[in-house]
Amino acid sequence: RIQRRAIQCRHDIEALNSSFITIFKALVPAEEEKAKQKELLLSLQNLVTKEWPNAKLHLYGSCANCFGVSKSDIDVCLAIDDHDLSKSDILLRLADILQSGNLQNVQALTRARVPIVKLMDPDTGLSCDICVNNLLAVVNTKLLKDYAQIDERLRQLAFIVKHWARSRRVNETYQGTLSSYAYVLMCIHFLQLRRPAILPCLQAMDATYTVTVENTKCTYFDRVEKLHAFGARNKESIARLLWGFFHYWAYHHDYTDAVISIRTGSIISKRAKDWTRRIGNDRHLICIEDPFDISHDLGRVVDKYSIKILREEFERAADILQYDLNPSVTLFQPYVQ
Ligand code: ATP
Ligand code: MG
Repeated sequence: RIQRRAIQCRHDIEALNSSFITIFKALVPAEEEKAKQKELLLSLQNLVTKEWPNAKLHLYGSCANCFGVSKSDIDVCLAIDDHDLSKSDILLRLADILQSGNLQNVQALTRARVPIVKLMDPDTGLSCDICVNNLLAVVNTKLLKDYAQIDERLRQLAFIVKHWARSRRVNETYQGTLSSYAYVLMCIHFLQLRRPAILPCLQAMDATYTVTVENTKCTYFDRVEKLHAFGARNKESIARLLWGFFHYWAYHHDYTDAVISIRTGSIISKRAKDWTRRIGNDRHLICIEDPFDISHDLGRVVDKYSIKILREEFERAADILQYDLNPSVTLFQPYVQ
């Protein structure tokens, strides 16, 4: 492999900015899409309430965390306190209820890693996954959303990175590459470490929000409206940040020893987490600490084949941003085998 690591950013980087902003704007969902999601959630809530009056549905994932591109599937969590039924029984019962409503392709996947009911709503055309009592995901959705309110460059960077990852087929956890959630954490971490910093570390500040879910205490500063000017001293453009992001993951990240952690706003060592060797299927080849479930490495899906693919894609992206004549097109060229 040729090492083409650049020392300095290309001199015309700012000229690329407007085309990346245009791409970002095209990816943002329209208001009527949000309205359709709300409408579907309401009709689902009505069906569920008839069976379980105390059960509540929460939106989570990209339709609720501000990082959803247009036409994403919606993720819903059913919060229910029924100790007589197992999770599988709840899902099977839920599938029955939904089937009798006006919903299509209803399927209970009780053996999946995260068991869900899938469905399609013919009225809105939306597809939806419903999980049971996965409240940690609801809380990490709020954390991501709160970060997104602080500086608009986070949302711009993350949309473009997600779009790149999807085009290049490195957003497929079942193939050993990374989830959308992992990419957003990588973007937050990157912006926390800019100098001057563009994002603070909310979990290191005085707590204004605390919940305990599944024995995990989740606590952080969530009055983000007070932090609107936080990143103002840093004037870096989105093109410059994108360049920096890919250069970091291509040429600067220490894959041997570093764990990125938005919880601490810093890099921590694999030794400190005891993530230095393979245990079961966890290989820790790229380490991304979950902000709340801190024993969880979001890179654990990555294996010795997919780490190579990922790193080559980071290098490809970094080199395109450095040398290509038309990066805003070349970067997203679909991967073909
Ligand atoms: P996309 O636009 O690709 O659907 P997403 O943010 O909805 O993006 P999903 O992979 O659908 O990503 O995950 C939905 C949500 O589930 C995430 O936002 C996050 O809250 C939670 N989640 C996903 N993967 C994990 C994980 N490995 N550990 C903890 N929470 C996760
Ligand atoms: Mg999703």
